[in-house]
Amino acid sequence: MGIPELLVPAGNLEKLKIALTYGADAVYVGTSLFGLRKYAPNFTLSELRHGIEFAHQRTKRVYIVLNSFAHTHTMDTLPRMIDALADLNPDAFIISDRGVFELARARCSVPLHVSTQASVTNAAGCAYWKSAGAKRVILAREVSINACKAILEQVPVELEVFIHGAMCASYSGKCVISNYTAARDSNRGGCVQSCRHRFGVHTSSIPRSEAHIMNAQDLMGVHHIQAMLSAGIHSVKIEGRMKSNLYVAQVSRLYRQAIDRILQDPEAPCDDLENELATVSNRTFSDGFLDRPQTACNTQFTQYSKSLNFLGTVQALDATYAYVHLKQPFTTDTPMQWITPTGTHEAAINTMTNAANTPLRVADLKPNCLIKVERTPTIVPYSILTQPVS
Ligand code: SF4
Repeated sequence: MGIPELLVPAGNLEKLKIALTYGADAVYVGTSLFGLRKYAPNFTLSELRHGIEFAHQRTKRVYIVLNSFAHTHTMDTLPRMIDALADLNPDAFIISDRGVFELARARCSVPLHVSTQASVTNAAGCAYWKSAGAKRVILAREVSINACKAILEQVPVELEVFIHGAMCASYSGKCVISNYTAARDSNRGGCVQSCRHRFGVHTSSIPRSEAHIMNAQDLMGVHHIQAMLSAGIHSVKIEGRMKSNLYVAQVSRLYRQAIDRILQDPEAPCDDLENELATVSNRTFSDGFLDRPQTACNTQFTQYSKSLNFLGTVQALDATYAYVHLKQPFTTDTPMQWITPTGTHEAAINTMTNAANTPLRVADLKPNCLIKVERTPTIVPYSILTQPVS
């Protein structure tokens, strides 16, 4: 078994640092222009430069997502965009559009990864993209681990495969429901998750009813890591550039632990890690297509399930205090925890002040405020403050 890359989404610069601090080997990031997460905060060029330097100082990698399907008017600005991004020295561009791929290949030497949106599902497709200059192919999500193995037996190519995160009722994410229902193009970053709604099913054989018939469950492949490593998959990828700091921290830490554990002992159980993964927001889990030809929907509800609330992130530390950017206020009737790269630790917050040292009470807390709390040995940069959902 080789050592696979753990690839984690980073929706902004803070999440990039969290992912790499908590165990990711590489992150993928977007710009608002050509990535498929138009409504994620995304990165400015200077943030990207900073993030790539941060990663390279730690011998880690940053891949830039350019996986929209480019329409004619965007092709005018694309060459300048590619040149500017290539100057930042990223470790790859992730591309699905054949025209964008050719443009990038002609203009720079940045390695090119073929996006899952390109729907590559077989060895002939991989051989084609390899001969076209691709360093890596990110397979369609509908490909099983056994099929990955069969592809690698025929074509020596780097394969990247999704192991965790949201699944989608369309094939490889190619869908135009949002174009029709909200005038937003799913294939250019505008998906409004129309498939998560309740739909009526009315036929002569099905009684009048409504259900979330396209609400795909999330993928959790932690118990397939051994099979993925044995198959020779180069990179295991987590979905979720719109997800919270807590999600990024937990999936990075827990999949890092899972991979390291399986490399030590291929038979080692990972049930404890599965349980912890289920504490962060999810639509309930399935194995996706990793070991079967079809997967499951959660037809009953479309809310996220979670057992931990994300309260805030440590943004800075000095000798005495931790400075926490609050995502949401908290009450003190439920115990809190710090999540750090080494695990979960009890958080006892006795006193808090604002940055000007004015004491704060729980009632004073507002989303996005900065609070100072007493530093303890367990608190490190990017520690995440959480509280069980009551
Ligand atoms: S609407 Fe649903 S099925 Fe369509 S792209 Fe968005 S998540 Fe996928």
